[in-house]
Amino acid sequence: MRREGSKLPELSELQVLRHFNRLSQMNFSVELGMYPLGSCTMKYNPKVSEAIAASDGMRNAHPLQHEETVQGLLGIFYDLERALSEITGMSRFSLSTAAGAQGEFAGVLMIRKYLDDQGSRERDEILVPDSAHGTNPASAAMAGFRVVKVPSDSQGLVRASAVRKLASEKTAGMMFTVPNTLGLFETEVAEISEEVHRAGGLMYFDGANMNALLGKSRPGDMGFDVVHLNLHKTFATPHGGGGPGAGPVGASKRLEKYLPVPLVSGEGGRFALDYDVERTIGPLKGFVGNSAVLLRAYAYIRLLGASGLSDVSSLAVLAANYLWRSLDPEAFPVSHGKGLRRKHEAVVSVKSEFPGGAMKLAKALLDRGMHSPTVYFPLIVSEALMIEPTESEPLEVLDEYARALNEAHRALVAGELGDVPHNTSVGKVDEVKASHPATLKVHW
Ligand SMILES: *Cc1c(COP(=O)(O)O)cnc(C)c1O
Repeated sequence: MRREGSKLPELSELQVLRHFNRLSQMNFSVELGMYPLGSCTMKYNPKVSEAIAASDGMRNAHPLQHEETVQGLLGIFYDLERALSEITGMSRFSLSTAAGAQGEFAGVLMIRKYLDDQGSRERDEILVPDSAHGTNPASAAMAGFRVVKVPSDSQGLVRASAVRKLASEKTAGMMFTVPNTLGLFETEVAEISEEVHRAGGLMYFDGANMNALLGKSRPGDMGFDVVHLNLHKTFATPHGGGGPGAGPVGASKRLEKYLPVPLVSGEGGRFALDYDVERTIGPLKGFVGNSAVLLRAYAYIRLLGASGLSDVSSLAVLAANYLWRSLDPEAFPVSHGKGLRRKHEAVVSVKSEFPGGAMKLAKALLDRGMHSPTVYFPLIVSEALMIEPTESEPLEVLDEYARALNEAHRALVAGELGDVPHNTSVGKVDEVKASHPATLKVHW
């Protein structure tokens, strides 16, 4: 029996309500303003997708339910697989992998198994451009490959001649991101595919930047053998804070029998999860993965249709180029891709007398209630700001954002920014701890 009264805080309902309301207002989201984090595609996700993902049939479905009772849902996954295959030019997709990185890992394991079946065990090198997202070399290394870095040229593009020098009888494949992390379309992608194939390797397409290509061009037509998509970037799942995602992996005809299980089969109009795939690398995630994310993607694709998806990419590319061109070119020069149009994002340098200008500008934007772009990435650009407005934003918002960046830059060089940020609920954060999470301790 309790001897003393419990030490519960004695607060009124109103006080508690205010506390949580205040906390919620310290948050930022795309529903409050533009969230132009380059490489992340923080687009607005239509509420109808949320409503469908939260519908009774979805919410109450159980993964161990008899297939007979979830034919509708399985039919949706079957159709989604067909749509993703059509969008990318692949033969089949496995939907279960839960993130881009997990799709990559599945893809390189498939390449490993395919080469083993061909008697090419000695092929143990994966080519990865120096502009790649960090998950690419990590996935290849986790799958047991040696990572061979391909240098980009001075314009930030990978040249077929550079690939030719590195491709050999040791090459298992190449992981390639198009458009690349600088937002540039790789102009020699077809020749590079040919070089790698001629050397006996396979081509992996990192499809995280597919928001620029929907309905425009397809990795399958560019010669890729395996791809992943980030449904949580391109297809309507919010992904701040590391929530559930989906990184389905697709394969060309010759690699489809290696896809992770389950696949969704639909013979004679009867849908089922198929675990009986000849040379599968096995399951990487329970059941069909994060099914609510899959359902949102399906709703998004059906909502927009083929021409709507193509419009998404047109608008995303237009917005990125418009915003980039609205910046003062003296203040925000580009180090790569001079004279080239951007795709879904633009990377600029912050020009100032002292280092640290990009971070100062990012914080000056926070002071104005705006979310900053991605800073200091990719590593091959100094004082980088990586800006991806997405297709969601109206013209006035793009104008306002460009104006804010131009003004903040003028204040930066005039020495008038001071110790930004001044107006945020948290002032100084420990940036060393933030980027070395092993040492990160959360204090309240
Ligand atoms: C986001 C991203 C990834 C990784 O995807 P996750 O879902 O975060 O694991 C891989 N490549 C590129 C180019 C990306 O932008």
